[in-house]
Amino acid sequence: MKCIVCGRNAPALGGLCAPCLGERRRFIGVPEFCELTVCAHCGSVHRGRRWENSRGEMSELEDAARRSLRVVKEEGVSVSPKVSVVPVDGHNADAEIESTIRIGKSRLVQSGRTRIRIRRAVCERCSKIHGKYYEAILQVRAQGRDLTSQELELVRSRVAALVQGADRGDYIREEREVDGGLDFQLGKLLRGKAIVRTLARELGGRVTESSKLAGNREGRELYRVTFLLRLPALRGGDFVGLDGRILLVTHVGPQGTSATDLSSGRPETLDPRAEERARRLGGSELVEVAVVLDARMPELTLMDPVGYRPVTVIAPEWFWSRPRPENVRILKAGEEVFLVPDG
Ligand SMILES: [Zn+2]
Ligand SMILES: [Zn+2]
Repeated sequence: MKCIVCGRNAPALGGLCAPCLGERRRFIGVPEFCELTVCAHCGSVHRGRRWENSRGEMSELEDAARRSLRVVKEEGVSVSPKVSVVPVDGHNADAEIESTIRIGKSRLVQSGRTRIRIRRAVCERCSKIHGKYYEAILQVRAQGRDLTSQELELVRSRVAALVQGADRGDYIREEREVDGGLDFQLGKLLRGKAIVRTLARELGGRVTESSKLAGNREGRELYRVTFLLRLPALRGGDFVGLDGRILLVTHVGPQGTSATDLSSGRPETLDPRAEERARRLGGSELVEVAVVLDARMPELTLMDPVGYRPVTVIAPEWFWSRPRPENVRILKAGEEVFLVPDG
């Protein structure tokens, strides 16, 4: 059997061969214009009935052109379109849609061109952000001191990572460094709660929560909740004076604060009252390195690195359990000299 029109090729559909079909029928419809709505602030795109994060302007333009394509559905016919986009200006782009149409073993190509109009609008998230809408305030402070620069950086990056999610209601509206700490305005109340718990678990400290009426939204009363995380006063590596003793803080976490008594070398856990009484002397900047001159249990003779005279100290047990080192780390407090354990 041959094509009923040209009488040369084998028929593909309805007695016609693929080239003759292609001349007489359109399997695709390409509209003259189509539209892509983009948020003027953040570049999000309106797809279907909702806003979504952009996957890049070019692929969004391609997608818009692809969505505008109408395909004639027919048994045994498959259409695969290829889109190439040429941006024209900030508001327009042209898309060439070339479709390969397969009918049984035959194939033909049909193409069309559409002009994509780029509409700039404001997405729901940006309108909330610019409309000063936020449900929670997250405050991070430290007890009796400013946050260190490492803590500031850590908190910033943890909050950013914890907010970044698929949910578009999650956003940081504002981030500010205030009173030696950080304030974040967060789009979602529940996110604020989750973040403050996570930070407290990771960094230690106490969480308090307070709320106040912040107005109305769509007829409902809107409460804004403040989550305050107060980081512990002490940090790992701090030297503190407590009840006439000197301690090295070894770990601060949600389970409490551990420290080593420098003269006995023994570890202990500080209860909250002890923590409050502890007086911070400083951190690693207080540590000096001294040469070991002689070691005869329990006495250790060192060369004072500043005064260049020998000093004798009673070394705690941990010192004797290892090979004798050439140098040791020391801390001077008044007339006294203490060995500082490593790590
Ligand atoms: Zn034909
Ligand atoms: Zn936006």
